[in-house]
Amino acid sequence: MTQRFQFDIHATDGKARTGIISTPRGDIRTPAFMPVGTAATVKAMMPESVRATGADILLGNTYHLMLRPTAERIAKLGGLHKFMNWDRPILTDSGGFQVMSLAELRKLTEEGVTFKSHIDGSKHMLSPERSMEIQKLLGSDIVMCFDECPALPADRARINESMQLSMRWAARSREAFGDRPGHALFGIQQGGLEQDMRAESAAALTKIGFDGYAVGGLAVGEGQEAMFGCLDYAPEQLPQDKPRYLMGVGKPDDIVGAVERGIDMFDCVLPSRSGRTGQAFTRRGVVNVKNARHMDDPRPLDEDCTCPCCSQYSRAYLSHVFRAQEMISSMLVTWHNLHYYQELMAGLRAAIAAGDLAGFVKTFHEARALGDIEPL
Ligand SMILES: [Zn+2]
Repeated sequence: MTQRFQFDIHATDGKARTGIISTPRGDIRTPAFMPVGTAATVKAMMPESVRATGADILLGNTYHLMLRPTAERIAKLGGLHKFMNWDRPILTDSGGFQVMSLAELRKLTEEGVTFKSHIDGSKHMLSPERSMEIQKLLGSDIVMCFDECPALPADRARINESMQLSMRWAARSREAFGDRPGHALFGIQQGGLEQDMRAESAAALTKIGFDGYAVGGLAVGEGQEAMFGCLDYAPEQLPQDKPRYLMGVGKPDDIVGAVERGIDMFDCVLPSRSGRTGQAFTRRGVVNVKNARHMDDPRPLDEDCTCPCCSQYSRAYLSHVFRAQEMISSMLVTWHNLHYYQELMAGLRAAIAAGDLAGFVKTFHEARALGDIEPL
């Protein structure tokens, strides 16, 4: 196993790429989907079950973990991998996005952000240096730069001001991260939907030099068309030979469209969160298990799915346990959803390797157009 962090592209098809990110904790097959383990757990899933769905890497949230149980406590207990019983790669976000969306009484300065915890009102500070320190204490394999992301729509002046601050913070993050063989630091491109600012941000990050690059500041309410419009140019502004990560995306058709545009990594709470609200993603679209039409249906969620939920349980059972608010409802639908997402990524990887991404995408859209399932 490699002791270095390395990205090798094995095949391309149009702008899409497939390859392997090698890390001392294991390989990550790209394009990759990272399930979100916000509070040191992918909700409703055991770590071995997450791995069984095909996940090579998880995402952990700096903001949540620094507040509870604290990064210092996790470090004392041997780091996040040991703490949560996941020995494969972990990517941690910087806390920047969540401090802006969740924390109270935020105060943003050149130095960083001070805020009050949404859990107990305690006072905290996040800066590039503190974010790097926390992510190191957690033992994260892929560390994200501390950045600021304005909500869209925002005017050009606001987007530019925020992007420039994020670039100064990127340089400070790089400096504070230091030299840590086997660990990677990713820069985050900002610039909203402004092509020239995205280019300026990409140039600034490339000059600093990172192990990978994220397209940040998307999936914040701009809609798929605007997001794809930005992805028509943003990934190509970043270095060709490093992983490109689209943060916080997304729905299955968002992921397919972004892979076509040259994105290698994704994370999203959608498959796990939807699992808890009885919403299942299938090749033929979304199935709501709470819908009354499933109460007598002996068929699985998806007759072609090989996950433990579909191979052993009926829609009728899922409908029942959801209505009865039994925990197994969240467990089964989350398992299915994560399995579906990983199958989708495996399909994309195979199609790119075979040079038939267009065929895969056509089949993907055709199956969804058929609708969930035939009437009984
Ligand atoms: Zn399934």
